[in-house]
Amino acid sequence: MRTLIRGARVLTLDPERPVILDGAVLVEGDQIIGVDTCEALRQSAGIERELGNDDTWVFPGFVNAHYHHDRVFSMGLPDVPLELWLLRASGLDGPAPEFEDEFNYLNTLVSAIQLVRSGVTMTMDMAWPANHTPVIQAYLDLGLDLIYAPVLRSQNGYVYGSDEEFLAMLPTELRHRVEDQGLGLTGVYNSGDTYFKTRDELLAKFGDRIQLVIAPDGPEWCTEAELRLAAQTAAAEGACLHLHNSESPLERQWALQTRGRTMTEYLAEIGFLGPNVSCGHGVWYGEHDLELLASHGVVTVHNPSSNLRLGNGFAPVSAYQAAGMIVALGTDGQGLTERSNFLDEMRLAAYIQRTPSAVFPARDPWSRGLSARTVFEMATVNGARAFRRQGIGRLQPGYRADMVLLNSKRLATPYLWPGHDPYAAVLQKAEPDHIDMVISRGRVLLDAGKIVTVDEAVLTQKLQSLYQTIWEKHDDQRQALIRELEPYFFRFFQPWQQLSTPTRW
Ligand SMILES: [Zn+2]
Repeated sequence: MRTLIRGARVLTLDPERPVILDGAVLVEGDQIIGVDTCEALRQSAGIERELGNDDTWVFPGFVNAHYHHDRVFSMGLPDVPLELWLLRASGLDGPAPEFEDEFNYLNTLVSAIQLVRSGVTMTMDMAWPANHTPVIQAYLDLGLDLIYAPVLRSQNGYVYGSDEEFLAMLPTELRHRVEDQGLGLTGVYNSGDTYFKTRDELLAKFGDRIQLVIAPDGPEWCTEAELRLAAQTAAAEGACLHLHNSESPLERQWALQTRGRTMTEYLAEIGFLGPNVSCGHGVWYGEHDLELLASHGVVTVHNPSSNLRLGNGFAPVSAYQAAGMIVALGTDGQGLTERSNFLDEMRLAAYIQRTPSAVFPARDPWSRGLSARTVFEMATVNGARAFRRQGIGRLQPGYRADMVLLNSKRLATPYLWPGHDPYAAVLQKAEPDHIDMVISRGRVLLDAGKIVTVDEAVLTQKLQSLYQTIWEKHDDQRQALIRELEPYFFRFFQPWQQLSTPTRW
């Protein structure tokens, strides 16, 4: 079936023809077969359906390139730096084991719906549930294209030192109470032994419908043997690798102290880097890292709201791009951005680069910032590149039919400057409420502002009642235990604080 999608403005991201007035996109199956003026494309044979109207603007669907669906329990948790946040988050209430699968399914779906509402048509999900099937099934039911990254992690669960070293700091009585409680990141260990077996099972079960990525959590949370095995397996299978890299200043210190070099230099040294690798965050790179990442074709996924919220600062993306690095965009964990609003993430990504300049450039005042088109590139084609996906992220013939239909009348309420650049107008003003339709792989997921593939109201209601049962059983014991651990956590990191360098290079 051929569908003609009309747009008063079609934002193609095609460098040759970035905006088409009174344009249209012709779709067959999940592919775009024509992009031109509406008048020209209307003559095409076999059009059975027409979408869009005189108020519609059409642009490519977004790719959320670094995301975790499962941070919902940390909503309402006070903001603290990353390492302490990870420890505290592990003490929050969870569902009883018999409800875990249902909870993971519903939570993934309700979270993913928020992404679709803000124009996301493909997301990666870096996840560590005990059972992956309900999480993957949620995406399949919703129809949101999934790049799934089960997490490999086996060490340094409390601090950036061995668990034995940390436990040895505790008084005997406290140590006995803490051991085997699954606190910090010890509760979600998934070592190389079991990881690749699970990966094979997931490939057999879902490999024809989703992309599976090999995802060591970060260099500090895996053994060197595991990192090498991950890289070797990825090379042998042609798979992509994804990991957290240089997110916090303490992570940078971990690498300098234990590896005698930056995380990126260490990864390069053990043969981990290549064009199949993408890194989340990348806030604390050193100068040499930029060269290494650019020359290996590694993509960095920028997560500005999470980076600010957890106090990790902001990544100088303009400098990364000037060094030749490819940068994509992601929302990180849901609890970090609360609303998983990809449009908000794009706005923040644009504005955060506009740092004061000592010399005011006369011609382009934002030469050190990111143009609206650059942010769109990060949010679309660069996200696809992070996972080596071709033909995704532009509205051009041969590209996949992933797109967003926005109601320009609502966007322009109460006013929009008539001389606007439509990319800038969307970047600056668009809200999920302005989006009428979201199409992923040629399939409509959201129509007239309503999710059409699943029953959002029923699912949300079910999730809320499940939360109710969790809250009814709420007790503070695990959080209290974490509070007892915190003085030792600070004692461990105390010497590191003095080593932390305030500048990156
Ligand atoms: Zn992350």
